[in-house]
Amino acid sequence: MPVDRPFYAQGLRFSCARCSECCRIDPGFVFLRKKDTEILVSALKMKYTEFVEFYCRWVPDLGGVEQLSLKEKANYDCVFWKNGCSVYEARPLQCRTFPFWPSLLQSADSWEAMSCQGMGKGALHSMKEIELILAQQKEEPVIKRTVVSGGTVVSGGTVVSGGTVVSGGTVVSGGTVVSGGTVKKSGEL
Ligand code: SF4
Repeated sequence: MPVDRPFYAQGLRFSCARCSECCRIDPGFVFLRKKDTEILVSALKMKYTEFVEFYCRWVPDLGGVEQLSLKEKANYDCVFWKNGCSVYEARPLQCRTFPFWPSLLQSADSWEAMSCQGMGKGALHSMKEIELILAQQKEEPVIKRTVVSGGTVVSGGTVVSGGTVVSGGTVVSGGTVVSGGTVKKSGEL
């Protein structure tokens, strides 16, 4: 049985037109992965907790899950937009891989529905290249946490409120690190 080839089997053209519309003007989310936060924290010379507090927001998803995203300014510009991306070399994977996102590559219709001056023009990106970009996004999931009740985070945690983080890299129970990286105490970041 023949396998359906994706609509981008012959590759897709894209070269950034430097219009900056994907960084500003309209509301949106820049979701963050663990490696994104490590790179940004290092570039900004901040602690992770400060970075989350100053530059990030938790965005509700389904089932009490929240995803970590960059904040926006009141005019919907990205928090890092200052006449250009102020963290360009350290920008998140979501920014570096635009427009080769799963949501835009679902179908030719979804690709064409995206309004972007650089799409359909410029450099040809092969199917192999596109699939490597998709695989990278899949391998590096967005940071999530689960809030069950009373604001207690039970997974994916950066915030622990007198409670128990049970998954997501750092496992803390009553202030004791059971496994994984960063030492946290109940109620502290
Ligand atoms: S981090 Fe930089 S590239 Fe990404 S949306 Fe913000 S300003 Fe644009």
